Amino acid sequence: MSKTFAGFRAVDNCSFQIEAGKITGLIGPNGAGKTTLFNMVAGVLKPSQGHIVLDGRNVTGMAPHQLFRLGLVRTFQIPREFGRMTVLENLMVVPPCQLGENLWMSWFRWQRVLRQERQIRHKAEEVLGWVNLLHVRDELAQNLSGGQKKLLELGRTLMIEPKVILLDEPGAGVNRTLLRQLTDIIVRLNQEWGCTICLIDHDLELVDHLCHHVVVMAQGTVMAAGTMAEMRQNPQVQDAYLGN
Ligand code: ADP
Repeated sequence: MSKTFAGFRAVDNCSFQIEAGKITGLIGPNGAGKTTLFNMVAGVLKPSQGHIVLDGRNVTGMAPHQLFRLGLVRTFQIPREFGRMTVLENLMVVPPCQLGENLWMSWFRWQRVLRQERQIRHKAEEVLGWVNLLHVRDELAQNLSGGQKKLLELGRTLMIEPKVILLDEPGAGVNRTLLRQLTDIIVRLNQEWGCTICLIDHDLELVDHLCHHVVVMAQGTVMAAGTMAEMRQNPQVQDAYLGN
């Protein structure tokens, strides 16, 4: 697929696959087109050309909320939490189609609404335990550290039991302890929940540790793909990226 901004081809005829059940890394120098590609896959940007297939279904041009319902979610480089809500509330607002959103439903079927709220609360607490944030569940999200906000963002994505998660620089600005926690969670998401994951990161140690498969982009195109070990041996990749 391709994406053109005012005549400039940010992504130029790029074709790549995210294998189901695997962790794929998307790496390359700044300006290579990684974020643009990610945004097209996540429905944030429409491709100027080409198409996106999810589980055999053509999803090109679908909006992020439609893809979200199909189980594809994207996290942002800068976590977008609701600062004035508590950590627990931030998770509870994620599941779509909550009965209490409908006034008539809340009025006439309040017991069902309450039961659903209890289920969502229970799930949110379970997820908070998973991402090691249970101890700050009643804290306002705006008071969390940068790394904790990343854990919260990941927790928010887990509320919908995603099939495919796109992670934008999960390691950026996270201290070593939290990075280890975040890494463990990503591995468990893949191994225990069976989530397919695609991540962009400049931390090649992290990419090497996490990813089964790596796609290298440069100047809007896919330059090479394979294991991180293969990419380190690839002279073209070394010249364009690793040698920097
Ligand atoms: P990466 O994530 O690999 O650093 P990006 O996808 O952010 O690369 O950017 C690829 C190229 O597209 C860059 O040259 C960038 O300046 C350009 N670009 C990205 N978004 C826009 C936009 N909205 N309008 C114009 N140019 C853009």
